[in-house]
Amino acid sequence: MLKTRLILAALVMSASLPAQTADTGTAHKAAATALLDPNNVGAAHLACPAYISAEAGASYPPGGGPAQVAGAGGRGAGGRGASGGGTGRGPATTPPRENWYAEGGQVFDNLYMLTTKANTAWAIKTSDGIILIDTLFGYAAQDEIVDGLKKVGLNPADIKYIVVSHAHGDHDGAVKFLQDTYKPRVILSPKDWELAAREPNPYTHDMDAVDGQKLTLGDTTITIYITPGHTGGTLSFLIPVRDHGVPHLAFEWGGTALGANTSKEMLQSYISNAGRMMDVAAGAGADILIGNHTEYNGALERLDRTKARKPGDPNPWLVGKPEVLRYLTVVQECAKSWLAIDEGRPWN
Ligand SMILES: [Zn+2]
Repeated sequence: MLKTRLILAALVMSASLPAQTADTGTAHKAAATALLDPNNVGAAHLACPAYISAEAGASYPPGGGPAQVAGAGGRGAGGRGASGGGTGRGPATTPPRENWYAEGGQVFDNLYMLTTKANTAWAIKTSDGIILIDTLFGYAAQDEIVDGLKKVGLNPADIKYIVVSHAHGDHDGAVKFLQDTYKPRVILSPKDWELAAREPNPYTHDMDAVDGQKLTLGDTTITIYITPGHTGGTLSFLIPVRDHGVPHLAFEWGGTALGANTSKEMLQSYISNAGRMMDVAAGAGADILIGNHTEYNGALERLDRTKARKPGDPNPWLVGKPEVLRYLTVVQECAKSWLAIDEGRPWN
């Protein structure tokens, strides 16, 4: 706790912010904006109220940046609509492959990125099979999950667990197909099982996640946290990985986007859980950020850099412990900004 506070204090000071952020939409958004960097700029884009790139004063990663998407209205439509908003497993018809297909790949000794242009699932290789975090839209399952695993030398029949960050179609769209085909155990939070059950042709209810749950498969144990905010039961994760044999710890914040329709209760939950995860991540020593939308931290470009890595080069995913806390601080400030606006304390 103290360590977290010290690191955060250092972050705030380095950003030349007043020690106490005024509790207004403007001030919280400014606090988030002051902390933007390539490890979090896309997350802020989806979590913060409409912001204008000119005011950010940050350099955006290639292809990223707020200017490419409309403001609050656009985010409401894009962030919520595209991720299902609890309705639909994706488009009624499969979009053209060139619109979504991306090449995945290995990022750590035991962690593989299975990804479309927009969304990422993660395969954790253990001594006793695969833990799959998220599944992408259903239409991408064959190309990205099944063939994607084969391309990196893994067998989709070895998927023993699917853990779903939250029950939106861009993350759970292929659960039913994978559940029927490979018979893995499927884990969601109780609240998001409720969300999933409301879908037409839902997948079969299996295991309920528990906050702080240790999920062990073979030689690997991941930790699952229930962190409501983006949905009523969004899951976040700590995942032990190895880089050329050296152990590190990856953190995933399982639901990021917020919008004008996010309820006050959910915003408050998001804020408190982001704070809780700062302590968890700092206590555990998480030094890697992964996400389930490529935009959050320029994941496709980062994967390209990983593939181009030469012996001795640092792993582009190893961002260091302060960056994990910084990411959570940015999205938390975004949520505080929304909450201030909700409570009638907007732009002043
Ligand atoms: Zn979502």
